[in-house]
Amino acid sequence: MPVAMNLEDYLEAAKGAIARLKLSHRKRAPRRERIEAKVQVAEDVLRDAQLAKQMGVHLCDCTWPPQIMLWEEEMDAHICPNCSLRT
Ligand SMILES: [Zn+2]
Repeated sequence: MPVAMNLEDYLEAAKGAIARLKLSHRKRAPRRERIEAKVQVAEDVLRDAQLAKQMGVHLCDCTWPPQIMLWEEEMDAHICPNCSLRT
């Protein structure tokens, strides 16, 4: 399924970005607390997205954090509340 493949790539890219951000902020002490707070939020979002994916929740990568796709009985499909993608 293309959405799942894209999401895995997306999560891997996010993990790499967080790791790079952690390394880069060490040189700029005055903004350290603000950057560390943003890194923590990014790590929380990434962990939630990975957990949702492991649980088999359908996710759409049209935004970050990924949108949780909800089952619509009438349409017999999972629908993204943001972009209306159907799977
Ligand atoms: Zn979407």
